[in-house]
Amino acid sequence: MSDPRIPIVILGATGMVGQRAIQLLAEHPWFRVGALAASSRSAGRPYREACRWNLDGEPYAGVGDLPVLPCEASALVRGAGARALALSALPSDVARTVEVALAEAGWVVVSNASAFRADPRVPLVIPEVNADHLRLIDRQPWPGALVTNPNCTSTPLTLALAPIHREVGLEAVCAASYQAVSGAGYPGESAWDLLANVRPHPGDEEQKMAAEPKRMLGTLGQNGIVQASFSMSARCVRVPVVDGHLVAAQVRTRSTITPERAASLIRSFDPGLDLPSAPRPTLLVDDRRDRPQPRLDASAGRGMAVTVGRIEPCEVMGLKLFCLAHNTLRGAAGAALLNAELLRSEGYLERLKG
Ligand code: NAP
Repeated sequence: MSDPRIPIVILGATGMVGQRAIQLLAEHPWFRVGALAASSRSAGRPYREACRWNLDGEPYAGVGDLPVLPCEASALVRGAGARALALSALPSDVARTVEVALAEAGWVVVSNASAFRADPRVPLVIPEVNADHLRLIDRQPWPGALVTNPNCTSTPLTLALAPIHREVGLEAVCAASYQAVSGAGYPGESAWDLLANVRPHPGDEEQKMAAEPKRMLGTLGQNGIVQASFSMSARCVRVPVVDGHLVAAQVRTRSTITPERAASLIRSFDPGLDLPSAPRPTLLVDDRRDRPQPRLDASAGRGMAVTVGRIEPCEVMGLKLFCLAHNTLRGAAGAALLNAELLRSEGYLERLKG
């Protein structure tokens, strides 16, 4: 019997995020792997030969024999059809060309890459926070569509702050990340830089972490997204941890809020989403003094829940907390899949039938 699930083309299938996406699709109720694509180094080879599988569980998650396609729009349309759904785990510079070419060709692309996250035409979405921003798609100039999910540090921070922002409004946020090694892909950063060391992020991670929460906590207006008006400062650091990004945040709110009230809002946060990858609850509050920890908490809610802890008074800013998410699941592959689920439930995949 043929598989009735919707096929997804994984772009960047051999990388850290691509592998996670393939692993998640093996058991997904709505979607399955349709085709795989990666660089010219991998194209033309069977997936099991092109990919160095880095995850636990069954290597290649049942798709080891699929051929890897090149990541060029014309080849992808030839190989996977004129209308298709793609999950992109491409490096940003490659995504900038390929993703828009696919949207122009009629594909619906859900992307992890940062290339279009700040583009006013493209929604940057965490379904539990700003599902309504998806309506930007109605104004996109392409027959297909392009949707992005945030950076893996913006994700736990935005989710943890959303209930507080809705209740009392954010005025200023200072945040510092402690980021896992898997966040840099494979092979990622050099062992020399990572082992027994802590390294300030040399790239543009801090700019992304400072910009993205304001966009997602903003509102959809006539002329696009109106950013939330709080100020935000971010510092990002790589630490020798395998999976799970921890963020420490100090927060000033527009009206006073006690740590107890903030914890209660976070604990009772219920976006009312009924999607297969949406964890219930979305946010966990851990009252133990030494939590959250990446090793112990990154897999909460099958890697899709965000754990918040140490919600306490801050002498400088008013309130402080830690939050944590699994970077390749909630911060990347799981986030894109959740956006694909939202697209389906909002009817945006109907255009693939046209
Ligand atoms: P990665 O492990 O380095 O994988 C990169 C993937 O892109 C590989 O499949 C690679 O294929 C392919 N690729 C590289 N150059 C290419 C080219 N010129 N043309 C076509 N394909 C090319 O990286 P990753 O960690 O999976 O990250 C993927 C994307 O997700 C990045 O944009 C990253 O910023 C974003 N992201 C990552 C995380 C995370 O936690 N890792 C979180 C959020 C967002 P080959 O194997 O053939 O070279």
